[in-house]
Amino acid sequence: MASPDLDLHYMNLALDAARAAEAAGEVPVGAIVVSPAGDVLATGNNRVLRDNDPTAHAEIVAIRATGQALANYRLLTPEGEGCTLYVTLEPCAMCAGAILHARIARLVYAATDPKAGACGSVLSVMNHPALNHRVEVTPGILADECSTLLTAFFRARRNAATQTIP
Ligand SMILES: [Zn+2]
Repeated sequence: MASPDLDLHYMNLALDAARAAEAAGEVPVGAIVVSPAGDVLATGNNRVLRDNDPTAHAEIVAIRATGQALANYRLLTPEGEGCTLYVTLEPCAMCAGAILHARIARLVYAATDPKAGACGSVLSVMNHPALNHRVEVTPGILADECSTLLTAFFRARRNAATQTIP
């Protein structure tokens, strides 16, 4: 189930989730988990500040919610099929590990993360040759929109920080 139109549709939903994080003053990253049948099982946005939780990245939030929805610690359908995770930023090492543990079948991400990306940018946790589970990875869907959102957020934060200096 790898249609470019569908990928665009679901990534737009992840982008909406990223905007929700931004509205709450968080770094704008959003994620959604989609079943093999195309149902959105969960949405997550970055909430590390709100929850005082360094692990509350969008992917982790969405994966936890999906586990609850499916009542399974692995995000598999009763037929044993894996889900697709859409996220607006390349997952970090923690999230890449969680994606593997969750047995996500396919990962679609938007912008690359040259500072912490673990899908090839900084580390290659995803699809490391020593690991068993294979994930189909599609990068770059809505990359410009998602990275512009992040860049604008950090620029605004830097400007705000400068303005508060007396
Ligand atoms: Zn992460």
